[in-house]
Amino acid sequence: MKLIGFVGLGAMGSAMAPLPLKAGYNVMGFDPVTSLNENSGVRMASRLIDLTECDAIIFMLPDGAVVTNVARELLTNGFNGLFIDMSSSQPDSTIALGHELEDNEARLIDAPVSGGRKKAVLGKLMVMTGGDQINFNSARRLLECFGNVVHVGPLAAGHAMKALNNYVSAAGMLASMQALATAESYGIISETFSKVINGSTGRNNTTEVKLESYIISRRYDSGFSLSLMAKDVTIASKLINDAGFDTPITAALNNYLSEAVDTLGPNTDHTGIYEMVNPAIN
Ligand code: NAD
Repeated sequence: MKLIGFVGLGAMGSAMAPLPLKAGYNVMGFDPVTSLNENSGVRMASRLIDLTECDAIIFMLPDGAVVTNVARELLTNGFNGLFIDMSSSQPDSTIALGHELEDNEARLIDAPVSGGRKKAVLGKLMVMTGGDQINFNSARRLLECFGNVVHVGPLAAGHAMKALNNYVSAAGMLASMQALATAESYGIISETFSKVINGSTGRNNTTEVKLESYIISRRYDSGFSLSLMAKDVTIASKLINDAGFDTPITAALNNYLSEAVDTLGPNTDHTGIYEMVNPAIN
């Protein structure tokens, strides 16, 4: 594989698309809204179908429905290489797209990521890959440009793993926010809360990475939108329900995030949910 297409150059895609250049690949990018500048080394295409000449095409798009539409357009216009869906897509739409490709020369693997924009810039994401071994082997060197690569199972296993990870992450975030607000009402200042919880068993990714930078500061600019986190929790809730491991937490978390999207707006940063837990006094 030499020429890599990259579709979706938002918060994550814009950080990830230039990374394969360092490993000697050429990259052609496409996004109808944003563009990377020439210094990035990524060649921008003016039309999606210009990417059909690529050996592999990476998607970093909002969800599985968008991925399916974009993949279909590329297939109709003659693409016959490897699709790599690095978006956090719905596992059932990934399996359906995989079936559509069965009579086609094009192939598909899912390789969603965890780590956020900061780790994306550094090429230090966790890349969780689903797909058959042959397709995984052919993409491994390319995927390693983005971080630590793990082959988690068959097609869509990566997307399932990603949603379940974000379910745990969202639950930890909400619990951490409630605990922070409650601690303050007992006279524990936020800096003390952060220091003590990060030296104790309650620490998690929110307390270690998000608390001081985005939540206590009320900056809410981590680069991951509330609507994308709500999407991931909805996906995970369905997986958990279907597998029969439902508890009251599942629906409660899912409903709270949906309500937050309606109240705060879909483009609010996910850390901005603290304004629902503990509104700022103006
Ligand atoms: P984003 O909204 O910043 O970027 C999405 C990009 O896709 C936009 O630039 C948009 O113009 C483009 N796009 C939408 N429809 C398109 C189409 N039909 N054709 C081409 N481009 C199109 O989102 P993001 O934060 O970069 O997230 C992308 C994916 O990665 C999502 O699935 C998200 O859940 C996942 N993710 C995000 C983060 C994060 O921290 N932001 C971390 C891990 C995974």
